[in-house]
Amino acid sequence: MGRRKDSSSNNTESPGSFSGTQHQGTKTRFHYNDDEPTTEISKLEDSMAASDKAMAAEDDSMMGDPDVSFVDGDDGQTSADYYFDSYSHFGIHEEMLKDAVRTKTYQNVIYQNKFLFKDKVVLDVGAGTGILSLFCAKAGAAHVYAVECAHVADMAKEIVESNGFSNLITVLKGKIEEIELPVAKVDIIISEWMGYFLLFENMLNTVLYARDKWLVDDGIMLPDKASLYLTAIEDADYKDEKIEFWNNVYGFDMSCIKKQAMMEPLVDTVDQHQIVTNCQLLKTMNISKMISGDVSFTSPFKLVAYRDDFIHALVAYFDVSFTKCHKLMGFSTGPRSRATHWKQTVLYLEDVLTICEGEAVTGSMTVAPNKKNPRDIDIMVKYSLNGQRCVVSRTQHFKMR
Ligand code: SAH
Repeated sequence: MGRRKDSSSNNTESPGSFSGTQHQGTKTRFHYNDDEPTTEISKLEDSMAASDKAMAAEDDSMMGDPDVSFVDGDDGQTSADYYFDSYSHFGIHEEMLKDAVRTKTYQNVIYQNKFLFKDKVVLDVGAGTGILSLFCAKAGAAHVYAVECAHVADMAKEIVESNGFSNLITVLKGKIEEIELPVAKVDIIISEWMGYFLLFENMLNTVLYARDKWLVDDGIMLPDKASLYLTAIEDADYKDEKIEFWNNVYGFDMSCIKKQAMMEPLVDTVDQHQIVTNCQLLKTMNISKMISGDVSFTSPFKLVAYRDDFIHALVAYFDVSFTKCHKLMGFSTGPRSRATHWKQTVLYLEDVLTICEGEAVTGSMTVAPNKKNPRDIDIMVKYSLNGQRCVVSRTQHFKMR
């Protein structure tokens, strides 16, 4: 899960085992080039295509029946539906499927651990296109219930049928919290519920709900562990581009937007060379045992500088693991691992910290679902540095939405 465009795809190495190669994926930050000519041929073509479309639209409107032009494709979905139900559009599923670190890890976990699935009943929470259910059925599960609330469930049904798995996979369209399962209990719950910053969108709650309602006592959660980490980076250039940008926009002061920009964590890939300190484990969640209240927590951190540098931001990322496999499997979304569509989460600091090698930024991070909208996350960071060249202490609030 996790829903933004611009994924790093085309990864062909075999992910899944933590011992695999760890290197940085493509840096996807977009840099504007002021000198770039603005009338490239592709743009000209775009604008010509746009004017063609406009003319066609005008023709349509002259023919009457304006409603027709607001219906996208065959599924009757309007753009408004997509806005409120982004998982109905195939694009987001394409992005997730093409995230090879993600999808290949699940595939490897399932195909390399067939002993877990033999004769077992599986529940796939948030099945999307049905990919994880197909993996499980192919690995020998007795039956898979694929539950999906978005309209992509209709596609999943068709995909299951056309691949000849109708006898093994039952697709149920509806919310986990509202559907009825044809069985009382399941042996395995599999789900890809992770959002940006691990917890954004709070789908973990849905997974825990399913676990408490349907999983047999000695049942298995896949994945069953997720950990959140924190580190600190030098990021002068990009902070300028994203934050200081608002000071002077084509000659106008838009700095009132800066405050908002500072409060919103930025989902982006970070180059590992930007990392200035160690990486600190903030929180490990045991998906088999935790309760939903455990998604709110406060964790202390101590980030010790490897070198003299400036710190502009904290960076959070997560890893997940499947500890019930024959050998431990999982993946990391950290800046030293191959990039995934989750990228990393960058939290800009109000202060630039002038830190010397061996000095530490200490503090704590408090994470909690927003009270009004539990899919959003509120983050509070307290940090201080008592260094030779910089003494700072501050509390900052962030909101992921
Ligand atoms: N399992 C698929 C899709 C993962 S994305 C894959 O790995 O490619 C998560 C999916 O969960 C989305 O399609 C979303 O619509 C669905 N989902 C989220 N909350 C849900 C809920 N409460 N009940 C059912 N489905 C849910």
